[in-house]
Amino acid sequence: MAELEGLEFGKSDFVLLDEVTMEQFMENLKLRFEKGRIYTYIGEVVVSVNPYRQMDIYGKEAIDAYRGRELYENPPHLYAVSDAAYKAMKRRAKDTCIVISGESGAGKTEASKYIMQYIAAITNPSQRAEVESVKNVLLKSNCVLEAFGNAKTNRNDNSSRFGKYMDINFNFNGDPTGGHINNYLLEKQRLRSTFELFSLFQTTNNDRSNHKAVMSALDVIGFSKEEINSIYQILAAILLLGNVEFGSEGEIVHVVDQDTVTHISELTATDPESVTKGLLYRTVATGGGDVIEKGHTEKDACFGRDAFAKALYERLFGWIVSRINGIIEVKDYNPVLHGKNTVIGVLDIYGFEIFDNNSFEQFCINYCNEKLQQLFIELILQQEQEEYQREGITWQHIDYFNNQIIVDLVEQQHKGILSILDEACLTVGKVTDTVCLESMDTKLAQHPHYTSRKLSPTDKTMDFQKHFRIRHYAGDVTYSVDGFLDKNKDLLFQDFKRLMYNSANPVLKEMWPDGQLSITEVTKRPLTAGTLFKNSIVALVDKLACKEPYYVRCIKPNEMKSPVLFDDARCQHQVAYLGLLENVMVRRAGFAYRQQYPRFLQRYKMTCEYTWPNHLMATDREAVEAIITQHGFQGDVAYGHTKLFVRTPRTLFTLEQERATL
Ligand code: ATP
Ligand code: MG
Repeated sequence: MAELEGLEFGKSDFVLLDEVTMEQFMENLKLRFEKGRIYTYIGEVVVSVNPYRQMDIYGKEAIDAYRGRELYENPPHLYAVSDAAYKAMKRRAKDTCIVISGESGAGKTEASKYIMQYIAAITNPSQRAEVESVKNVLLKSNCVLEAFGNAKTNRNDNSSRFGKYMDINFNFNGDPTGGHINNYLLEKQRLRSTFELFSLFQTTNNDRSNHKAVMSALDVIGFSKEEINSIYQILAAILLLGNVEFGSEGEIVHVVDQDTVTHISELTATDPESVTKGLLYRTVATGGGDVIEKGHTEKDACFGRDAFAKALYERLFGWIVSRINGIIEVKDYNPVLHGKNTVIGVLDIYGFEIFDNNSFEQFCINYCNEKLQQLFIELILQQEQEEYQREGITWQHIDYFNNQIIVDLVEQQHKGILSILDEACLTVGKVTDTVCLESMDTKLAQHPHYTSRKLSPTDKTMDFQKHFRIRHYAGDVTYSVDGFLDKNKDLLFQDFKRLMYNSANPVLKEMWPDGQLSITEVTKRPLTAGTLFKNSIVALVDKLACKEPYYVRCIKPNEMKSPVLFDDARCQHQVAYLGLLENVMVRRAGFAYRQQYPRFLQRYKMTCEYTWPNHLMATDREAVEAIITQHGFQGDVAYGHTKLFVRTPRTLFTLEQERATL
């Protein structure tokens, strides 16, 4: 709970609102944004509004002010939760995690960088060289991942096209010893339309210095010259693939510009004939066990080329991440010698997405957010419960919406949307997106969170052929099944995998271990994109669930990247999607406010004759009881072992007001 700031800045904790209504929430959020207070708490959760301007709140002075302090001793800040996570890790040997969520452009990645910088700044006071080098590699890895995984979109000039979870390991001194990065659902869809990879080759001054920074970061992290070379060759090959065009005479399809193909073969250390063949034919095993080469149609050839370019990019990115992991992983850690190895995880992941047209990507992202929301509610409730138990206060049941039912709708074996989708992908023959939609309609007709045009015939906003709608915890989203099957199959012709595995470039070869298999050996279908994503999110949730969580909820104030504009409607949507009101309610359902006895006494002792200037009672707790009783607030509080718990914020306001008038 934040120290109560002057009211001209609004309330520094939403728990202190007079009433938990959307109006009051928004009024407070807006007021604080306009006053340059971009952070506000809900208990220990930080709500952050992107200021779209440089704020003078991240410097050395700020770091010193927050270092080692409690949450409520300073105005709300990312540094305060970073410090809380760090203290929990260091003092109580707890693994902790900081979950940052919000929509594109809301400030997640910036927040994650400030958090990392803060942790870097407060650790290794004795400047030991090996710790400094670990810190340096951890910080530099951001720069590399951004260079390869971020892109300019219409919503954010530096948009992360992947979710990132980074574990930082600490030794018993509380100094970083290494880390591990997981990446989630790299969006490769836009690759060819935006040519974002061009930025890595560009020649303007600004880009040249970026390029230099990336090169130097790769070098510092420990990539070899050959590896860096290979990375750039692969990037160039991906871009050149975009120039490959096909023509056809009758049934026969050919490549229009053979020179481009030759160039690609040079860059990938393969021979030009094999590349051409990979682009024009696919090898298939016949029922009788024969292997034949089947010519592509022009359409298939284009599809194959695009899938190849995307896969090259995805594998390259995955390889860079695993290479970094190999370098930063903690080696030779001996718990007997070194004590418990503790972890702080930082999750920077896309928030809930609702666009005019929502496809497979939004479906996956929103499913991920359902899972995270579920974990959030569970953990917050659990944290509350544990605190009450610790303090010896009776736990009262808190009513909240359990979104398990929506999670099941997506992920349940055999019955959920992902299973239905996988089944459709496995079916031989002409299964179209629309056929898949019909199958969903049949199987999910009774589900209270699923509907479609067929199930709600009067709803003209949906199309019979392509739309279904999920009632998410954050609101209704209509998805178009167009492309769902292809995206879920994520098909890449085996010929390309073999081609890359046979590359003379060892780096490239390493990225394609599955290219080893010959066509007759490829019997098992690779897992679908949906199932792979689900598995990675389930693993992520398991990882987070065993850690003490801290949350940063980011809000984007407007679409114009303006530092002065607070778009009420847009902000209100985000507050709803993030479930912030619900969060305040959960936090207030029991006791809105809690404070350790000595601190409470310190702040309010002047409001009671028995405690001012000093009390003569045996304990601070008794003195606090005297204050509460004198004001007649007995019905509104509970006394814990070390803390006073106050049910309604009004009690606190009365005390605050009295304090101010004295
Ligand atoms: P995406 O999901 O697209 O990756 P994001 O939530 O990670 O979006 P950021 O890249 O962190 O968004 O922020 C977008 C831009 O907003 C930044 O490039 C920066 O200009 C501005 N910004 C965000 N946070 C801050 C901040 N604390 N101070 C100043 N500017 C900020
Ligand atoms: Mg980002």
